[in-house]
Amino acid sequence: MELYQLGIKAAREGLAKGDFSSVELMQSVIDRYHAENPRIGAYLTFDEEGALAEAKANPRGVPLAIKDLINVRGQPCTCGSKILQGYVSPYDATVITNIRKGGFIPAGRVNMDEFAMGSSTETSALGRTVNPYDVTRVPGGSSGGSAAAVGSDLCIAALGTDTGGSIRQPASFCNCVGLKPSYGRVSRFGVTAFASSLDQVGPMTKSVDDAALLLQALAGHDEMDGTTPNEPVPDYVRAMEGASLKGVKLGLPKEYFIDGLDPEVKRLTDEAIKRCADAGAEIVEVSLPHTDYAMAVYYIVAPAEASANLARFDGVRYGHRSAQSDTVFNLYARSRAEGFGPEVKRRIIMGTYVLSSGYYDAYYGRASKVRTLIRRDFEQVFRHVDALLTPVAPTPAFKIGAVQDPLTMYLNDLFTIPGSLAGNCSISVPSGFTQPTADVPALPVGVQFVCDAYREDKLLRVAKAYEALRT
Ligand code: GLN
Repeated sequence: MELYQLGIKAAREGLAKGDFSSVELMQSVIDRYHAENPRIGAYLTFDEEGALAEAKANPRGVPLAIKDLINVRGQPCTCGSKILQGYVSPYDATVITNIRKGGFIPAGRVNMDEFAMGSSTETSALGRTVNPYDVTRVPGGSSGGSAAAVGSDLCIAALGTDTGGSIRQPASFCNCVGLKPSYGRVSRFGVTAFASSLDQVGPMTKSVDDAALLLQALAGHDEMDGTTPNEPVPDYVRAMEGASLKGVKLGLPKEYFIDGLDPEVKRLTDEAIKRCADAGAEIVEVSLPHTDYAMAVYYIVAPAEASANLARFDGVRYGHRSAQSDTVFNLYARSRAEGFGPEVKRRIIMGTYVLSSGYYDAYYGRASKVRTLIRRDFEQVFRHVDALLTPVAPTPAFKIGAVQDPLTMYLNDLFTIPGSLAGNCSISVPSGFTQPTADVPALPVGVQFVCDAYREDKLLRVAKAYEALRT
């Protein structure tokens, strides 16, 4: 076994026992990067010297691939966009300070959909990332670089972000564990904002143990982010001790088991349900009656917030400035026209429209009210069940270029968006592979568990017990 194949837990054990050094571990990841990244395209850049120097200084440090929207001082932070090409971060995000304290080293910047808008990493303006299980397919998105890096052992683990599914869907497509923490569990300070009321950073890892170890380092109050409550963070590893599904009440939201689900995803989800039942879980059907509105609400709230957040990219303060900026208006307009890609522009236009005077009440105001109803659906259901079990995405990884219509692309997040709007926590756990055919190899598919807000302890316990059923 090569060192780059290790997960966090095993890497830590090896470092502690002195089986290898942090520099050797880092070098192994770098060698792997040279050998395999040209094929997969997970990383955009890798400051090898900086990473090795940090490994030398931190003999217990485990390398982590970082999604290219999280600021690390002295590193690029492109958000997959031309508008931020050449930008160098002047400071560390709180999650970066936290992971360093927790025994990790930021090592390499991974690709993503531009400003995290997308479900396939195809909207990245800076590179193509492919699915390690079939290089003609997408890795999912927007954290596709993170997922492809984990799924092809190009890293030990990675950080992703999730606004409406961007950790969970690519995790499902690339056979890794992806955890979206509850809103406010992890600081957003220094993480380029897409939709501030939804964004969360979370772990993308090779096992549930590793997700717990990484979440432990990430989570907690930050005075720089007013949405992080000043409450203690549970011991997540402890929470998983003796994890079992016996007596666990698992809800199946009937609105999620719809026609149009890919038959292989359906088969694998049914198998997951059966496995849980056989392990002693009590399976109950539940209802989240406002599920149908989640997509519409998300595509008002997220673009609205994005249009405000992206106003700062004006050609003056960061990144790209148009060469044809003869007037102030042209400086703004041309820099943005040249710097942003089509999906980002679409969101800015939609967002600006729904926030404009005369339309605010009809769209944003209304969507916010429906969002409350969606959150209440979950609160209601979690009075009766411990966790929900659902598909992660309606299909396995699709072909590069196959989805051209934005609305069809948006449907990828049908099962992940409602929980994001509610602010609860959820995880995608590998659940098996599709049946290979003559033209399509076996593709990984994950299953999603959802728990009430701030119950990552419970979520990890369920996920850990589920993972153990498969090994
Ligand atoms: N695919 C969704 C979107 O494009 C979610 C993205 C995300 O979670 N960052 O908005």
